Amino acid sequence: MRIGIVGGAGRMGQMLIREVAATKDATLSGATERPGAGAVGRDLGTLVGLEPMGLTLTDDAPTLFANSDAVIDFTSPAATLAHAELAASLRTALIVGTTGLSSDDHAKLAEAATRTPLVVSANFSLGVTLLAGLVRKVAATLGPDWDIEVLEMHHRHKVDAPSGTALALGRAAAAGRGVALEDVKDAVRDGHTGARRAGDIGFATLRGGDVVGDHTVMFATDAERLELTHKAGSRAIFARGAVRAALWAAGKPAGLYSMDDVLGL
Ligand code: NAD
Repeated sequence: MRIGIVGGAGRMGQMLIREVAATKDATLSGATERPGAGAVGRDLGTLVGLEPMGLTLTDDAPTLFANSDAVIDFTSPAATLAHAELAASLRTALIVGTTGLSSDDHAKLAEAATRTPLVVSANFSLGVTLLAGLVRKVAATLGPDWDIEVLEMHHRHKVDAPSGTALALGRAAAAGRGVALEDVKDAVRDGHTGARRAGDIGFATLRGGDVVGDHTVMFATDAERLELTHKAGSRAIFARGAVRAALWAAGKPAGLYSMDDVLGL
């Protein structure tokens, strides 16, 4: 089982190289970076603080996809769309962790998934996958007099907000209520906003330090509040989940899959 990594010099990319190297059922087929990235040409082992591996970081995505059963992509939306097209044309499984994807981007991924297996998740941790299921159930149980708010905090380098995970949790809550998140989402509050609109799902974003990812979904009504929280302590949990998804997806029929499918939930 040959697994390749795109964005290999990134924070998640390096973690993924280490995780694949430590997985006994998998062989690292290589890793790429964007053309012009400073790390291109470096040995993958020394790049991630391990012994030399005899594999170098390249900017040649087509060769990596041709030589891999599955490729893991935690990069940027534009890069991920290009990788999805490559994966579809070469029938390589693609695991997508990139966040900040628009609904148009998601539609393009769905199209690529008609030709090859794609596993797409804003959060590859077991805990958050379970949390989303709980949120959906709680939202379906509690009536409209319970307000739903999603609070998240991430490290100072994160470029998109609210986080992909916060939006996925909001979607799970909306699904529990039988509404579309787009119709009830309230992500920006500043100045004289007026009172909270009944039925809205609110989002609040904190950024700072090296926080890997904290998410809390709050259900608040008069004199009572229920809070469901997940805290990620290390990016290794996302890498572990993504490698598990890659092992699961290779050889599956074309289709758009989620972490629920990988975990059999
Ligand atoms: P990062 O900026 O450290 O890494 C991204 C890397 O992708 C960079 O090294 C960049 O040069 C590289 N890249 C960009 N274009 C490329 C291309 N065309 N080909 C190859 N490489 C390319 O960011 P990060 O912290 O590693 O996060 C990456 C993405 O993963 C973000 O969208 C983040 O939100 C997401 N993320 C998802 C999860 C999850 O579980 N789904 C967990 C953590 C982070």
